[in-house]
Amino acid sequence: MTAYEAIAEFIQKCWDEDRATLQAAGPGEIAWLTYLCPDGQMGYTTVAHRHHEEGPWVANGKELKEPASFRVIFNRGRELHRLTQNRMILQEHRPDRSDPTRCRVCTSAAQGFHTRFRHPCRTVRLLASEYDDRPGYQYSLWAPD
Ligand SMILES: [Zn+2]
Repeated sequence: MTAYEAIAEFIQKCWDEDRATLQAAGPGEIAWLTYLCPDGQMGYTTVAHRHHEEGPWVANGKELKEPASFRVIFNRGRELHRLTQNRMILQEHRPDRSDPTRCRVCTSAAQGFHTRFRHPCRTVRLLASEYDDRPGYQYSLWAPD
């Protein structure tokens, strides 16, 4: 197994687990909601969810009034999209055909000539670093600089 294949297999397994978790969670989003006092000062904040972007915010099974502002901290659709984009980034950084030990994209201009980075390149290591707490992550080989 090449260095690229090892890290790619690890990352894709993590992404498959994430996708399964996201699909089991069902649609919707979670947000941090802020409510103001009548004088315009901040009153309180709470965390709530809703099943679709036009639906009401719900906490403890109760519909909440419209907040003064909210910040979405989790959106399943966005997370699934991010997983798809990350797979495209991993594919973009696959091994070079002429030298499978090096990334086909990443190069370094050192001493006047470009050298392709050895795998796993920094981009692929950064993708894997999100999962550095999972079994199988090889810190000594994959930790980003
Ligand atoms: Zn690369």
